[in-house]
Amino acid sequence: MPEMLSPELIKLRDDCAKFATQHLLIHADQPAVDAQDQVRAAAKAAGLFAMTQPTAFGGSAAGQLALCVARETLAAANPPFMDSVFGPSPGVLGGVQEPLASSHLGPLIAGEKRSSFGFTEPDDAEPTRGVIEGDNVVITGQKSYVTGGADADFINALVRVEDRGPSMIVIDTHLPGVKIEKKFVSLDGSHHAAFSFTNVAVPTNQIIGEPGEGLPKAMRQIGDIRLLFAAQACGYMIWVLDLLNQHLKSADKSGSARGDKDVVRWHYSELRIQAFAARSMLYRTARLADQGENIVNEAMATKVFATEAVGVMVDRAIQLVGGTALVEDHPLAILYRKVRGWRLAEGATDVLKLNIGRGILELDKGRI
Ligand SMILES: Cc1cc2nc3c(=O)[nH]c(=O)nc-3n(C[C@H](O)[C@H](O)[C@H](O)COP(=O)(O)OP(=O)(O)OC[C@H]3O[C@@H](n4cnc5c(N)ncnc54)[C@H](O)[C@@H]3O)c2cc1C
Repeated sequence: MPEMLSPELIKLRDDCAKFATQHLLIHADQPAVDAQDQVRAAAKAAGLFAMTQPTAFGGSAAGQLALCVARETLAAANPPFMDSVFGPSPGVLGGVQEPLASSHLGPLIAGEKRSSFGFTEPDDAEPTRGVIEGDNVVITGQKSYVTGGADADFINALVRVEDRGPSMIVIDTHLPGVKIEKKFVSLDGSHHAAFSFTNVAVPTNQIIGEPGEGLPKAMRQIGDIRLLFAAQACGYMIWVLDLLNQHLKSADKSGSARGDKDVVRWHYSELRIQAFAARSMLYRTARLADQGENIVNEAMATKVFATEAVGVMVDRAIQLVGGTALVEDHPLAILYRKVRGWRLAEGATDVLKLNIGRGILELDKGRI
């Protein structure tokens, strides 16, 4: 639970709260041109940047509970430039051997190369496939929703390799046959690209791990990002509840507190219950992860609950605050756009619910 933190994690939480005020919120009104650089430098000095990076590359490789504490606390201030606080993490490249360790993982961690993740494919396309020919795997197919793809030096893509099965392969975006078909921006303002691959020859030593082991690798990365979303969602819930708390204590036109009305109180209490449940799930799941337990089902459940709850919360907060909250640059309107994608990205809620059902009914996995 959030209350049962070690002295180290309490210090981390307090440091993050201070960091949000001193280094992030100062850019809220007038972002400096070099705000991202300033945030990165401050995050390095504070030891936050290294938390997501492996020790072999100078990082501190923080556990899931510490990462959740840090992300939730920062998000609770609803600051800008949160993405610049943590350094690039290895993702599916975690633990790769040479040559990938030097050619891609090292430059990624050092910020010299950018990676992206290619999993989602168009509904009307054949799955992306590869055939091993000599020292290369020759890849053909499409990826339809690659976040940061247009600026990426390489894509960690799921490819079905003939006779071997699903594999994660590092595809350099400059290779002949790699084409950006479309660039687009989603509701939260983040940038994405759709790619096609036509007979792209990638060295077989850019297959991550053994061919055919791609799906578990990809799922591990997705599992980590699911907890990340949940931690940020919990932080934003705290921020929304603080905002509502102040709003409901303020007076309406009649002079009485807005929160005096029963129906308003009912909604507010409902939101507090959701936040209490989401945070309890988050901290329990992070602790299980740090104990080395398989948390596939718990991470899905936490991601579903927290991202749905924050969506409902922001929506309901807009209702309680009224029309001003829908003005384009109102923090609630911005947050509404920011959190909507989380109910689809890294697994649609509907699909994850089916997976949780399957996990327990068919595989006997997951706990309550
Ligand atoms: C902001 C954002 C960033 C993203 N970044 C990336 C990225 O970097 N890399 C990447 O690979 N993808 C990325 N995605 C894509 C994301 O992973 C997909 O949108 C998500 O997995 C859903 O897939 P889909 O869009 O193809 O929708 P679909 O799979 O078509 O699902 C749409 C709906 O159809 C129903 N449905 C679909 N399948 C089933 C099923 N098996 N059983 C029951 N109902 C079902 C559900 O209601 C579901 O919500 C991103 C998406 C967003 C919004």
